[in-house]
Order: sequence, then structure tokens, then C-alpha cells
Amino acid sequence: MIAALEIDLAMLRRNAARLKTLVAPARLWPVVKSNAYGHGLIEVAATLGGVADGLCVYAAEEGLALREAGITLPILVTGPTQVASLEAAHAAELTVTIWDTGSYRRDLAAIARRRGTPFPVHVKIDTGVTRFGLDASRAAEAIADLLDDRDIAVRGIFSHLAAVEEFALGFTLGQFERFDAALAPIDALVRKRGIFRHIAASAASIVFPQARMDIVRPGIAIHGLWPSPHTQGRAGGSLMLEPTLSWRSELTVVREVEAGRSVGYGCAYHAARPSRIGVVPIGYAEGVPRAASNAGAMLVAGVRAPIIGRVCMNVTFIDVTDIPQARSNSRVTLIGRCGDAALSAEDWATWSGTINYEIVARLPTTIPRLYAREGLG
Ligand SMILES: *Cc1c(COP(=O)(O)O)cnc(C)c1O
Repeated sequence: MIAALEIDLAMLRRNAARLKTLVAPARLWPVVKSNAYGHGLIEVAATLGGVADGLCVYAAEEGLALREAGITLPILVTGPTQVASLEAAHAAELTVTIWDTGSYRRDLAAIARRRGTPFPVHVKIDTGVTRFGLDASRAAEAIADLLDDRDIAVRGIFSHLAAVEEFALGFTLGQFERFDAALAPIDALVRKRGIFRHIAASAASIVFPQARMDIVRPGIAIHGLWPSPHTQGRAGGSLMLEPTLSWRSELTVVREVEAGRSVGYGCAYHAARPSRIGVVPIGYAEGVPRAASNAGAMLVAGVRAPIIGRVCMNVTFIDVTDIPQARSNSRVTLIGRCGDAALSAEDWATWSGTINYEIVARLPTTIPRLYAREGLG
């Protein structure tokens, strides 16, 4: 074995169900972009059936892949959709996001007329991320205009929060205010037509009841990962999340080396004592952060083996001198439990100066994923 990811789908469903209970009566539309944060787009989406009320993806291509796999839930594409993909998106009943009321709106309308059904959309308002969205100050007028367009079916209006993970309260309250102010002039119509309003990703769904509105869009939390330590602290015991993913490999070989011997590129490590060096057959091309060189650890036989030297493209070295059982083919755990020990995506994030999101989202699609369905029913 080179490496494998094991994903517990029953646990995934439990995380989603707990979130759904927490946010009720808001609807749950999990975000499964970026291969479901590395966990596997199709398998994750299929497992959420019966719990999720809809799904969010970033790109239309992800939505099309879900339709091809037989997923019938409503799907919202939150990122930009290329004009060339709009026809296929409409045919697959994907809902796209609109924030450009100029040429893009005309493209949507043209396809709707040709195909004989309005184009379903959610309108995005920018309230402070400064990324995508109609400027909040002029959104009401633009949305009122869209609501009058018979070729466009406005099903939702949404925004995205910038700093809930850091619990920047003042900034977040300002975003709520800008969102409410943009909607105020059209409030009656929005309610009458049952148009969904939404703004919350994982962190806000968990810690800001007022952010839940009609729909929440959690991504990271359904995988049992916390958006930030702040969020976990703020949540107190109100929500239990269990990480669903384990990441394992195997020692290719164990090398016995004398004191003073250098290991790996740049001679960035020298054995301080006669040592046993475990060679792990995955490196930064397989998702091991190079920034964890001489910093992180992996588990062998329930014991932490420090990463030594630089992480190579396809190889990482660990010091197994104090783990006499370690030999070629010994199992190596990068994320997950091993005996009494465990490592998490947060550990890797700490060692490599990033966040748990990046650790899992960068796990390549080429690593085999094994799905445990026990208890799924
Ligand atoms: C990625 C994303 C989410 C989900 O964020 P999490 O922090 O993973 O819950 C929600 N909404 C939008 C618009 C996103 O881009």
C-alpha cells in the first residue's frame, strides 16, 4: 500500500443530523465543493440524502457530476458559472448564482427562453468579503428588477460572512445589518414568494442563531472538523462533531543509520544517535505539507514518530528509533487513531502554519478512498 483515506459515512451522517437539529427550523444545504473538502464528492453527497435539504457546490461542473451520479436534491452553484456551461446547468436543473445584472442576466434569460423554463437563481449580495456579489448599497433595486423578470426565477438571496471564524463580532453584526438593509425595501415580496435568505457557513450556523435564517451552508463541520478553535470554544458543549476521515500509509523500508548521517534533501537533518529511519512512500504531491519538514509526526504502533528532514515530493522520513516494532510494511497513521494515540487535521495545520480546511482540501483525488458504511442503514 502507498496510502489510503478511510471515510466513515455513518459518522458523516451523524454530524449532518446533529447540525440539522441545532439549526432547525432552518434548512440544511451542505457545501460539498472541492471534492467535499477532500472526502469525495459523490459518496459524501449520496450519504447526505434524507438529511440535507439541498447541496451547494462552487462550480457547475461539480453540480453536473452530482446529477450524473443520480443526486436529485436541489443544487446551488455558489461560484461563477461560465457562459459556455449555462445551457448544461439549466438542463440539469442546477440553480446558479447571479450578481451581474448586465450581460450575464441576458445570457441566463436567452437560455431560459430557448429552453422554455425560467432560469433558477440565487442572488448574491456582497456585505463585506469583497469577493462576489452585488454591492449591498445598490442591491435592492437590482433584485427588484430581477424579481420582475419572467425569464429569471429568483429562489434565494444570500451573502457570505468574512470573520466569524475569528469571532469578529462588530464586523459580523455590520454584515447582518447591510444584508437586512439591502432586503428591507423588498422584504414583503421576498416573503410572499418564499424566497430563501441565507448567510451562514459552519461557524455562523453554530454560534450565531440569528444567522441561520432560512438555509445554512455548512462545509467543514459535516466532516466533523471545527471551523476554528474560537468556534469550538464558543459552541461549548452545544454540538458534538466527530472527524470522519483517517489517513494511512505504510513504511516502505526502515533504514539503520549511524550517528551523524544526513537524511534527505538539503541535508536538513543529521541523526544525533544511531537511528532507525522509516521511509514513508508519500510526500507533498500526496498531500503531506512540505512545511511540516522537521516539524510534524506520524503514528506507528500507537507511538508518535517525528518527521525528520525535508518532506520530498513522494517521500517523507520519520524517526522510528524508539519504536522497535517498526519495520517495512508497518502501518503509518497520518490522521486518525492508532492505539491510544491520535493525530488530527488540526495537528497538521499547526505544524505547517495553515488551517484544517487546507489540509483536507488538498488531499489529492488520486489517493484511494475507502468508505465505511456500517450503521448507515
Ligand atoms: C465554502 C463556503 C461555505 C462553507 O464554509 P465552511 O466554513 O466550510 O462551513 C459556505 N458558503 C460559501 C459561499 C462558501 O464559499
